[in-house]
Amino acid sequence: MKGVTVLGSTGSIGVSTLDVIARHPDRYRIVALTANRNVDDLYRQCLQFRPDYAVMADEQSADHLQGRLQAEAPTIQVLSGVDGLEHVSQLPEANYVMAAIVGAAGLLPALSAVRAGKRLLLANKEALVVSGQLFMDEAAQHGAEILPIDSEHNAIFQCMPAGYAKGFDGVGVRRILLTASGGPFRQTDMQELARVLPEQACAHPNWSMGRKISVDSATMMNKGLEVIEACWLFHTRPERIKVVLHPQSIIHSMVEYTDGSVLAQMGNPDMRTPIAHALAWPERIESGVSSLDLFEVARLDFEAPDRQRFPCLSLAYQAIEQGGTAPAILNAANEIAVAAFLDRRVGFMAIPKIIETALSTIPAIEPQSLDELLDVDAQTRIMAEQQISTLV
Ligand code: NAD
Ligand code: MG
Repeated sequence: MKGVTVLGSTGSIGVSTLDVIARHPDRYRIVALTANRNVDDLYRQCLQFRPDYAVMADEQSADHLQGRLQAEAPTIQVLSGVDGLEHVSQLPEANYVMAAIVGAAGLLPALSAVRAGKRLLLANKEALVVSGQLFMDEAAQHGAEILPIDSEHNAIFQCMPAGYAKGFDGVGVRRILLTASGGPFRQTDMQELARVLPEQACAHPNWSMGRKISVDSATMMNKGLEVIEACWLFHTRPERIKVVLHPQSIIHSMVEYTDGSVLAQMGNPDMRTPIAHALAWPERIESGVSSLDLFEVARLDFEAPDRQRFPCLSLAYQAIEQGGTAPAILNAANEIAVAAFLDRRVGFMAIPKIIETALSTIPAIEPQSLDELLDVDAQTRIMAEQQISTLV
């Protein structure tokens, strides 16, 4: 029996994780569940899964949850804040930690799981984008096992040969083909893009996801963050990663070998597949995902991404090539810009502008510590907010 902490259990990935876990009560037990402010959902999940701990982001929500749990599940310990999140990420009884908080807010608890040498199921790509080198160094130092949940990275992991950590050339890998759906605006008239609304951006053609990652998919910053994520997870450079638009989202990514072989991982676009894969690895378990009906899919299309339509993709390549704190600056500016777009404070095409300004204004340095990274993150957020206030 493996104990599992699910960080961000009320979100899209969190709910899919609990769906898979509920199918295997003989294999997994929930140790802790966490949410931002959604007391109702966390309360319901607590009654269903009976964790030892529940964590809310702030004290007020935690008090509220505790009050509601008093009668029915008084033994559940309710904690709050980053301290609470860090605590449940390193508990000895939690063998696995699912990192499914959105944004850099998930960095500290994910890092805490890594430092405790856990199996980390990593959905929270922003954590790795912000702190790549430090995160991977800590994982190596503490023997943490990082298994990718992002469907593309999970696909790549499934197609990679053993020993890839020592370098692609030694194991005969030429490059990664990272697939992208192109999001809801792949064919939208360029003039229209400035006027698209949050609800249009959040209506992804193939995947049902949280609002932030849905907007990232619409700008293709999601793919940019994933290029950076892949560089760290697979110990490679951006020039070894080619982004391929594949609108059907059936191939989740590919690995090309030096002999010309290309291995692809395919399946219905349902996050329960990578979640089940990472939970059970190296075994395989039932995930609830239906069989892929190739006759219904009928065709698979591929095209090159249009860098003019999706400037965020180039900005992400620029940031990883620049290195140091540049990816942290990219991520923080993007988080602020996306939140402002979702709040209808700026238009869709302001998102890349805000990020570009942050990248060209804030100097990228080689970070010496986690505190330095967190400072850069905070400084970028302030700068991006200032820029937004001049736009509206
Ligand atoms: P979501 O918005 O649906 O859920 C986010 C979760 O994090 C919620 O439980 C929320 O309560 C919690 N949360 C948010 N802000 C918090 C804060 N400040 N402190 C503590 N908890 C907080 O997001 P999602 O779509 O589930 O995505 C989660 C992560 O997984 C993201 O990093 C995303 O990029 C990644 N991811 C998601 C998908 C997907 O299909 N949804 C696919 C690949 C990767
Ligand atoms: Mg993805």
